[in-house]
Amino acid sequence: MPGYYMENFGCRATQADAAAIEQRLAELGFRPAGESEADLFVVNTCTVTASADSRARQAIRAFHRRHPGARILVTGCYAQRAPEELAELAGVRWVVGNAHQSEIAQIVATPAPNGGDGFVPLNRLRGGAAGSAPAGPEILIGNLSEQREVLVGPIGPGGSHTRPTLKIQEGCNHRCAYCVIPLVRGSSRSLAPERVVAEIQRLVQAGAREVVLSGINLGSYGRDLLPRCSLDELLGRVIEQTTVERVRLSSLEPMHLTADLIDRFAASNRIAPHFHIPLQSGSDRLLAAMHRWYRGEHYARRIELIAERLPDAAIGADVIAGFPGESEADHCATLELVARLPFSYLHVFSFSPRPGTEAARLGEAVPQPVIRRRSRELHALAAEKAAAFRARQAGRVTRALTLQTFRDGATDALTGNYLTARVPGRWPSNQWLTLRLQDGGEGLIGEPITSRG
Ligand code: SF4
Repeated sequence: MPGYYMENFGCRATQADAAAIEQRLAELGFRPAGESEADLFVVNTCTVTASADSRARQAIRAFHRRHPGARILVTGCYAQRAPEELAELAGVRWVVGNAHQSEIAQIVATPAPNGGDGFVPLNRLRGGAAGSAPAGPEILIGNLSEQREVLVGPIGPGGSHTRPTLKIQEGCNHRCAYCVIPLVRGSSRSLAPERVVAEIQRLVQAGAREVVLSGINLGSYGRDLLPRCSLDELLGRVIEQTTVERVRLSSLEPMHLTADLIDRFAASNRIAPHFHIPLQSGSDRLLAAMHRWYRGEHYARRIELIAERLPDAAIGADVIAGFPGESEADHCATLELVARLPFSYLHVFSFSPRPGTEAARLGEAVPQPVIRRRSRELHALAAEKAAAFRARQAGRVTRALTLQTFRDGATDALTGNYLTARVPGRWPSNQWLTLRLQDGGEGLIGEPITSRG
């Protein structure tokens, strides 16, 4: 049985794609193998930042250096955005864009002499005549605007994942000035609600207790379906029609965070009180330049509504440091808004221009040392907010799900509000514990009160 080794970069959506690719590879007789036994390497890339691109290139070079005879297939968002760049790397046999990921297993199982339908040899892309050897790696990049499918292959449970991720929505219809995602994932499309319910129930039957629902623009779930179905309605069906013990949502855009949706969270202890709401900037001027649809005060009102209805909820945000034209006053507006709102964590991204986006064509680049300093200031503020949230949670009794991480004599367990507590001793993963939380300085300690398997 041929063995493959897969390396994944990027977000939960990319990992969910990887799970679907692996499922199809298994159906065609491939088995996952350790790096030293594999003769096929699948590199599933991310292109959200320049450093994500660079990590993917490094991985490909390292695989080829260590295993010069192995075949390498590169897929994912970087492959969709810049296939020729990847095809030039030594050892790369195929570059397959997101539009053709469902065909990967077939491509590697029965490689046609010229790849097969739709494949373009690299030399032909560069203007070489058909048959003018050497053809080099083959590139298969389809038209994403024609894509209607959402690849389904939930991650886990099992392997290294306790909490499976189910991707229920793909692509995005927006055009935020800095974002390359719509160019590499196409327009928004959703998995039908009955399919979502069936997939969750299948995961529960396989042992999952928490399922994470993810999407590229999750809040736009269901707008493409006939009949339409909102995310709020879908959550209602998931709670009524499945037996999943806890469901968690990945990132939601602020304008999709309606009062009804917040009430839906508040009404069920089976929905994790965890909201990840990208902010990007606290400056209205920059939000307009980024083509974001809200302004600082709209955003703040939604966050305050969450805090009012679910006082212990985890609230996280993404923020960009150094978007073109960002002045010191813009940066201070972001610091002030973040300081004022009850965030429990923050993801800080240093701006890097992504080819093909509007922001890459803007002038007024912020100098790198300034971006680094602003990023450090945001990180420091994020650490303060996280520490304050942990301190507020100390003394609370809450339920947590044990994870697979065991180190320094303690097992990690994840609370509904996205805190990782260190529980003394070794505990099997995927088990509910009722914990009393204590602030251990660097992190939380969970003292078990009861457990139920
Ligand atoms: S909403 Fe904006 S940031 Fe999010 S995926 Fe779409 S274009 Fe990118």
